Amino acid sequence: MSVFDRASAHIRSISPYQPGKPISELAREMGLDEAGIVKLASNENPLGMSDKARAAALAAIADVPRYPDGNGFDLKQAVSRHHDVAMNQIVLGNGSNDILEMVARALLGPGSSAVYSQHAFAVYPLATLAAGATGIEVPALDYGCDLDAMRAAIRDDTRVVFIANPNNPTGTFIEAGALERFVAAVPRDVLVVVDEAYSEYLPGHLAYDSARWLDRYPNLLVSRTFSKAYGLAGLRVGYGIGQPDVIDLLNRVRQPFNVTNVGLAAAVAALADQDFVRRSAELNAAGLKQMETFFDAAGIGYIRSYGNFIAFRAGDGAAVNRRLLEQGVIVRPIAGYAMPEWLRVSIGLETENARFIDALKKALA
Ligand SMILES: *Cc1c(COP(=O)(O)O)cnc(C)c1O
Repeated sequence: MSVFDRASAHIRSISPYQPGKPISELAREMGLDEAGIVKLASNENPLGMSDKARAAALAAIADVPRYPDGNGFDLKQAVSRHHDVAMNQIVLGNGSNDILEMVARALLGPGSSAVYSQHAFAVYPLATLAAGATGIEVPALDYGCDLDAMRAAIRDDTRVVFIANPNNPTGTFIEAGALERFVAAVPRDVLVVVDEAYSEYLPGHLAYDSARWLDRYPNLLVSRTFSKAYGLAGLRVGYGIGQPDVIDLLNRVRQPFNVTNVGLAAAVAALADQDFVRRSAELNAAGLKQMETFFDAAGIGYIRSYGNFIAFRAGDGAAVNRRLLEQGVIVRPIAGYAMPEWLRVSIGLETENARFIDALKKALA
């Protein structure tokens, strides 16, 4: 018997999260110059971050010897104004990943279950299984959530439903009316987590404000992140918005100082710079069009995306990925999402997208 053998079966059965390949790793492996590598693998913001967020982060370095404000007062106040919710309706996370983990720790365990869609964000099964709960994966409909089937899959032991809107890695989107009808149909003792990691990229006519639903559906939790459109992925800041009793529950399992002082300061400044977010969304819309135009012309299948990435049909995903890596282009294989024929590419700068397109043409030739 080893330490490994003694671990619970549900922990041993977990397949670890597979992140995008770091630039430094590919440079090492292929003997390439880091400067020549294009990474379009982790849905990062190609514009970087807001200058104001950078300045705030640099200034906050001075506070590093001290513990951060464990209550995150300044950021909660900023989030509270941004979404027009009370301070006690907000929980801060070390990335929104942390919010998802808190949900699992607070509500899931052996004897309970969570419902999510096939091809949904990988952290939902990971957090569910790590808690010892059962994951109920509902077959997707056109690569997106089949909401009727998800509603029907909820059992007596179900405590949580996870929905990413838009979803990663497929980019599919549920329009606000359909999503609200779903939330309304879920029993009030089942938490519906609506993961809005990409909502800043939605065009105006599709944008919706789920915080306004909280009074009607006290079992709703909305999660947001500073990692994507705000460009702070490396600082790890996210938040959840819900009713005070749900937030109270999450705070009980939250690590006392889960968000760093640098992260808190940068996030406050980033939230205040909505002009940067707008420019990021505009660049992304143009980049999505650039990718779609190429895929259409080349006869390559893709899933219409509402995020800052797009999944396309590569045939042998692993082989095409290898040929892209050899050319210094990093995208994301999504075989782990049961989509081995597909690859996911993040939207970059126009020049980065062009590098990807050129490399893909060669990889497929
Ligand atoms: C990227 C992503 C997140 C969160 O990332 P964090 O960096 O932990 O905030 C959450 N949900 C989805 C669907 C994502 O794609």
